[in-house]
Amino acid sequence: MKVRNLILFGPPGAGKGTQGKRLSEALGIPQISTGEMLREAVLWKNPLGREAERIMERGDLVPDALIVGIVRDRLARDDCLGGFILDGFPRTLAQARALDSLLADAGRAAIQVLSLEVPEAELVERILSRREGRADDTEEAVRKRLEVYRRETRPVLDHYGEAVRSIDGVGTVDGIAERVQRSLAA
Ligand code: AMP
Repeated sequence: MKVRNLILFGPPGAGKGTQGKRLSEALGIPQISTGEMLREAVLWKNPLGREAERIMERGDLVPDALIVGIVRDRLARDDCLGGFILDGFPRTLAQARALDSLLADAGRAAIQVLSLEVPEAELVERILSRREGRADDTEEAVRKRLEVYRRETRPVLDHYGEAVRSIDGVGTVDGIAERVQRSLAA
Protein backbone atom coordinates (compact mmCIF):
# COMPACT_ATOMS: atom_id res chain seq x y z
CA MET A 1 0.00 0.00 0.00
CA LYS A 2 1.09 3.52 -0.71
CA VAL A 3 2.87 5.24 2.18
CA ARG A 4 1.28 8.58 2.90
CA ASN A 5 3.12 11.10 4.99
CA LEU A 6 0.57 13.86 5.39
CA ILE A 7 0.32 17.23 7.05
CA LEU A 8 -3.16 18.45 7.78
CA PHE A 9 -2.63 22.17 7.71
CA GLY A 10 -4.90 25.06 8.62
CA PRO A 11 -5.68 27.78 11.14
CA PRO A 12 -7.09 27.08 14.61
CA GLY A 13 -10.71 26.01 14.26
CA ALA A 14 -10.34 24.81 10.66
CA GLY A 15 -11.31 21.25 11.60
CA LYS A 16 -7.89 19.59 11.52
CA GLY A 17 -8.70 17.42 14.53
CA THR A 18 -12.04 16.23 13.17
CA GLN A 19 -10.85 15.64 9.62
CA GLY A 20 -7.61 14.09 10.85
CA LYS A 21 -9.57 11.52 12.83
CA ARG A 22 -11.71 10.64 9.80
CA LEU A 23 -8.70 10.35 7.56
CA SER A 24 -6.80 8.28 10.08
CA GLU A 25 -9.66 5.77 10.19
CA ALA A 26 -10.03 5.76 6.40
CA LEU A 27 -6.34 5.25 5.66
CA GLY A 28 -5.39 3.18 8.71
CA ILE A 29 -2.50 5.44 9.65
CA PRO A 30 -2.04 7.36 12.92
CA GLN A 31 -3.10 10.94 13.48
CA ILE A 32 -0.39 12.77 15.36
CA SER A 33 -1.76 15.84 17.08
CA THR A 34 0.88 17.85 18.90
CA GLY A 35 -1.85 19.87 20.66
CA GLU A 36 -3.42 16.64 22.00
CA MET A 37 -0.04 15.34 23.14
CA LEU A 38 0.62 18.60 24.96
CA ARG A 39 -2.84 18.63 26.57
CA GLU A 40 -2.18 15.11 27.84
CA ALA A 41 1.16 16.19 29.28
CA VAL A 42 -0.61 19.06 31.04
CA LEU A 43 -3.12 16.64 32.57
CA TRP A 44 -0.32 14.37 33.76
CA LYS A 45 1.52 17.39 35.15
CA ASN A 46 4.81 15.99 33.87
CA PRO A 47 7.77 18.33 33.17
CA LEU A 48 6.68 18.88 29.56
CA GLY A 49 3.14 19.67 30.71
CA ARG A 50 4.35 22.08 33.34
CA GLU A 51 6.44 23.92 30.79
CA ALA A 52 3.70 24.02 28.16
CA GLU A 53 0.64 24.87 30.25
CA ARG A 54 1.00 28.63 30.61
CA ILE A 55 2.20 29.08 27.06
CA MET A 56 -0.79 27.20 25.68
CA GLU A 57 -3.25 29.08 27.86
CA ARG A 58 -1.99 32.34 26.42
CA GLY A 59 -2.32 31.05 22.87
CA ASP A 60 1.41 31.20 22.18
CA LEU A 61 3.57 28.49 20.64
CA VAL A 62 5.72 26.22 22.79
CA PRO A 63 9.44 26.30 21.89
CA ASP A 64 10.41 24.60 18.62
CA ALA A 65 13.07 22.37 20.22
CA LEU A 66 10.54 20.95 22.65
CA ILE A 67 7.91 20.14 20.06
CA VAL A 68 10.39 18.79 17.52
CA GLY A 69 11.65 16.36 20.17
CA ILE A 70 8.14 15.06 20.80
CA VAL A 71 7.45 14.62 17.08
CA ARG A 72 10.78 12.93 16.47
CA ASP A 73 10.04 10.32 19.16
CA ARG A 74 6.52 9.78 17.90
CA LEU A 75 7.50 9.34 14.25
CA ALA A 76 10.14 6.80 15.25
CA ARG A 77 7.43 4.40 16.40
CA ASP A 78 6.56 1.45 14.15
CA ASP A 79 2.97 2.48 13.55
CA CYS A 80 4.23 5.42 11.47
CA LEU A 81 6.08 3.26 8.95
CA GLY A 82 3.04 3.03 6.68
CA GLY A 83 2.42 6.76 6.88
CA PHE A 84 1.04 9.33 9.30
CA ILE A 85 -1.11 12.43 9.53
CA LEU A 86 0.43 15.38 11.32
CA ASP A 87 -2.18 17.67 12.85
CA GLY A 88 -0.91 20.95 14.30
CA PHE A 89 2.72 20.44 13.27
CA PRO A 90 4.77 22.07 11.77
CA ARG A 91 3.67 25.51 12.93
CA THR A 92 6.89 27.43 12.23
CA LEU A 93 9.45 27.42 9.43
CA ALA A 94 12.03 26.03 11.86
CA GLN A 95 9.72 23.10 12.63
CA ALA A 96 9.18 22.45 8.91
CA ARG A 97 12.92 22.36 8.31
CA ALA A 98 13.45 20.06 11.27
CA LEU A 99 10.78 17.73 9.88
CA ASP A 100 12.48 17.73 6.48
CA SER A 101 15.72 16.55 7.98
CA LEU A 102 14.02 13.98 10.22
CA LEU A 103 12.33 12.41 7.20
CA ALA A 104 15.40 12.65 4.96
CA ASP A 105 17.63 11.06 7.60
CA ALA A 106 15.21 8.17 7.93
CA GLY A 107 14.80 7.80 4.15
CA ARG A 108 11.06 8.37 4.45
CA ALA A 109 8.63 9.33 1.68
CA ALA A 110 7.99 12.97 0.84
CA ILE A 111 5.39 15.04 2.60
CA GLN A 112 2.02 15.99 1.13
CA VAL A 113 0.17 18.95 2.62
CA LEU A 114 -3.62 19.16 2.79
CA SER A 115 -4.54 22.72 3.63
CA LEU A 116 -8.02 23.39 5.04
CA GLU A 117 -9.12 26.88 4.05
CA VAL A 118 -11.68 28.66 6.26
CA PRO A 119 -12.35 32.42 6.46
CA GLU A 120 -11.21 34.02 9.70
CA ALA A 121 -14.64 35.31 10.75
CA GLU A 122 -15.97 31.77 10.72
CA LEU A 123 -13.00 30.43 12.69
CA VAL A 124 -13.61 32.65 15.70
CA GLU A 125 -17.28 31.75 15.73
CA ARG A 126 -16.56 28.02 15.47
CA ILE A 127 -14.01 28.00 18.26
CA LEU A 128 -16.07 30.09 20.65
CA SER A 129 -19.13 27.93 20.09
CA ARG A 130 -17.41 24.57 20.56
CA ARG A 131 -17.90 22.91 23.88
CA GLU A 132 -14.65 21.12 24.51
CA GLY A 133 -13.78 23.31 27.47
CA ARG A 134 -10.23 23.93 26.29
CA ALA A 135 -8.30 26.35 28.48
CA ASP A 136 -7.20 28.25 25.35
CA ASP A 137 -10.69 28.77 23.93
CA THR A 138 -11.21 32.13 25.65
CA GLU A 139 -11.76 35.04 23.27
CA GLU A 140 -8.40 36.56 24.15
CA ALA A 141 -6.45 33.34 23.57
CA VAL A 142 -8.33 32.68 20.34
CA ARG A 143 -7.35 36.11 18.96
CA LYS A 144 -3.78 35.41 19.97
CA ARG A 145 -3.78 31.98 18.33
CA LEU A 146 -5.08 33.47 15.09
CA GLU A 147 -2.46 36.21 15.17
CA VAL A 148 0.29 33.63 15.79
CA TYR A 149 -1.11 31.56 12.93
CA ARG A 150 -0.99 34.50 10.52
CA ARG A 151 2.50 35.53 11.53
CA GLU A 152 4.33 32.24 12.13
CA THR A 153 2.34 29.36 10.68
CA ARG A 154 0.72 30.50 7.44
CA PRO A 155 4.13 31.25 5.86
CA VAL A 156 5.03 27.57 6.36
CA LEU A 157 2.78 26.78 3.36
CA ASP A 158 5.25 28.50 1.03
CA HIS A 159 7.93 26.13 2.25
CA TYR A 160 5.98 23.20 0.79
CA GLY A 161 5.20 24.82 -2.57
CA GLU A 162 3.85 22.27 -5.02
CA ALA A 163 3.21 19.70 -2.31
CA VAL A 164 0.24 21.73 -1.04
CA ARG A 165 -3.36 20.95 -1.93
CA SER A 166 -5.94 23.50 -0.83
CA ILE A 167 -9.30 22.25 0.34
CA ASP A 168 -12.40 24.33 0.99
CA GLY A 169 -12.95 23.83 4.72
CA VAL A 170 -16.43 25.37 4.89
CA GLY A 171 -19.46 23.07 5.03
CA THR A 172 -20.52 19.89 6.78
CA VAL A 173 -18.01 17.49 8.31
CA ASP A 174 -19.03 14.82 5.76
CA GLY A 175 -18.79 17.22 2.83
CA ILE A 176 -15.33 18.36 3.82
CA ALA A 177 -14.18 14.77 4.46
CA GLU A 178 -15.25 13.94 0.91
CA ARG A 179 -13.23 16.86 -0.47
CA VAL A 180 -10.22 15.70 1.52
CA GLN A 181 -10.55 12.21 0.06
CA ARG A 182 -10.96 13.56 -3.46
CA SER A 183 -7.89 15.74 -3.17
CA LEU A 184 -5.88 12.71 -2.04
CA ALA A 185 -7.11 10.67 -4.97
CA ALA A 186 -6.36 13.43 -7.50
P1 AMP B 1 -3.88 22.72 18.81
O1 AMP B 1 -4.65 21.68 19.56
O2 AMP B 1 -3.18 22.19 17.61
O3 AMP B 1 -4.70 23.94 18.52
O4 AMP B 1 -2.71 23.21 19.81
C1 AMP B 1 -3.00 23.83 21.04
C2 AMP B 1 -1.79 24.59 21.55
O5 AMP B 1 -0.69 23.70 21.73
C3 AMP B 1 -1.26 25.66 20.60
O6 AMP B 1 -1.96 26.89 20.70
C4 AMP B 1 0.19 25.78 21.08
O7 AMP B 1 0.28 26.49 22.29
C5 AMP B 1 0.54 24.33 21.37
N1 AMP B 1 1.07 23.64 20.18
C6 AMP B 1 0.50 22.61 19.50
N2 AMP B 1 1.25 22.24 18.45
C7 AMP B 1 2.33 23.07 18.46
C8 AMP B 1 3.47 23.22 17.62
N3 AMP B 1 3.64 22.43 16.53
N4 AMP B 1 4.38 24.18 17.93
C9 AMP B 1 4.21 24.96 19.01
N5 AMP B 1 3.16 24.90 19.82
C10 AMP B 1 2.22 23.95 19.57
